[in-house]
Amino acid sequence: MKNYPEILDAFALPEGERTAVPFGNGHINSTFMVRISGTEKQYILQRINSYVFIHPKDVMENIQRVTGFLRGKIAEAGGNPDRETITLVPSRTGEACAEDAEGQVWRVMLFVPDTFSPELPDNLDILEECGGAFGRFARLLDDFPASSLHETIHAFHDTPARLSQLEDAARQDPCGRLKDVQEEMAFARGCAAETRVLTDALAAGKLPLRVTHNDTKVNNVLLDRNTEKAVCVIDLDTVMPGLLAYDFGDAIRVGACSAAEDEQNLDLIHLEMPKYRAFARGFLSQLKGMLSRDELLSLEAGARIMTLENGLRFLADHLKGDVYFKIHRPGQNLDRARAQFALFRDMEKHSEEMKAILLELYEG
Ligand code: ADP
Ligand code: MG
Ligand code: MG
Repeated sequence: MKNYPEILDAFALPEGERTAVPFGNGHINSTFMVRISGTEKQYILQRINSYVFIHPKDVMENIQRVTGFLRGKIAEAGGNPDRETITLVPSRTGEACAEDAEGQVWRVMLFVPDTFSPELPDNLDILEECGGAFGRFARLLDDFPASSLHETIHAFHDTPARLSQLEDAARQDPCGRLKDVQEEMAFARGCAAETRVLTDALAAGKLPLRVTHNDTKVNNVLLDRNTEKAVCVIDLDTVMPGLLAYDFGDAIRVGACSAAEDEQNLDLIHLEMPKYRAFARGFLSQLKGMLSRDELLSLEAGARIMTLENGLRFLADHLKGDVYFKIHRPGQNLDRARAQFALFRDMEKHSEEMKAILLELYEG
C-alpha cells in the first residue's frame, strides 16, 4: 500500500520512495508534507477545497501568473525566488495542477525549509515582519495588470452586497432566529452608508485596483526559523483584483484584536493600538512613494469595513443555520458577529488615531 495520496504520482517529481504526512494548521485546503528518498528537497502537496473554490483551475491560473511575475521581480532584486515566493511543481503533463478520479484538484509546491508560520503573535516584531511581507507583496505586484486576474470568489469584499445577503437571510429566516437578533440587525442596517465607502471610492476611480492576497492572516507568512525575519507570503488561493485596504484591513481585524473571534464578553474586545502600529509600520515601510493620500487613508477605513463585513457575514450565517462557517457550539456565529461589531465600534473610537499613525509612519 502506498503511504501517500495516489495523485502524487501525477507530478513531475524525482524518483524515490515517497511519504506524505498531514502538515500545518490551514483550515481551507488539505495539506501534506512530502519526502522522497534520495533527495534533500521536500514538497507540499495540497488538495484545493472545492467547496470554497468552485473553479480551482482559475485559482491555479491566478497563482501561476502571480508567482511567475513575483519570481521575475525577486530575481531582478538579487533574491532567491524558490524561497521568497511559492514555487509550483508542474504535473507530468506540464499543468499547474492535477485532477484525481473524484475530480478533486491537487497541486505540489516546493517546501520552504527552516521556516515557521506564526499563529496570532503578541510579539510586535513578528507582527511588523508580517506587515512587511504583505507590504512587499503589494509593492512587487504594483505593476501587475490586476484586472486580468480571475475573480475566484465572486464579490468577495463587496460589503454592500454582504449587507443585502444579510437582508435576504433575515427575510427567509429559515431557522426562526431573526426574532432573537433584532438588535444586531438594527446595528447592521445603521451601517449601510459605511458599507459603501470603499466600493464607492473604487467605482469613482479614487482608489486603484491592485493584486490583493485576501487572506492576510499572519499564519500565511513564513518567517525564518533562526532570524524570525519574513521570508515569503504563502496561501495564494484568494489572490484577486481588489483594494489594498482589504489586505491591510483584514490583517488588522484578525491580528490586532484583543480577544478571540468568538469572545462573548464584549468588554474584552478592542483594537490593540501597539499591534496596529507594528503591523502598519512593517506594511508601510514597503510602500513608500507608492500610495496617494486617499489610498493611504483608505487603510484605516479598510480595518473598520473588513471588521463590519465579517460581522455581517457571521450574522447572516447564523440566520441561515450555520451553513458556511463551522460552529463548535450553538450560537457561535452570533457570538462571532457580536464580537466583530464590538471591534468595529472600538475602531470607530480610534479612527483619528489610526489615521494619524498611518500618516506619521508613511510620511515620517
Ligand atoms: P490553507 O488555505 O488551508 O490555510 P496554506 O496554503 O496556508 O493552506 O497551508 C497550510 C500551512 O502549511 C501553512 O500555514 C504553512 O504552515 C504550511 N505551508 C504551506 N505551504 C508551504 C510551503 N511552500 N513551505 C512551507 N510550509 C508551507
Ligand atoms: Mg493558510
Ligand atoms: Mg487559504
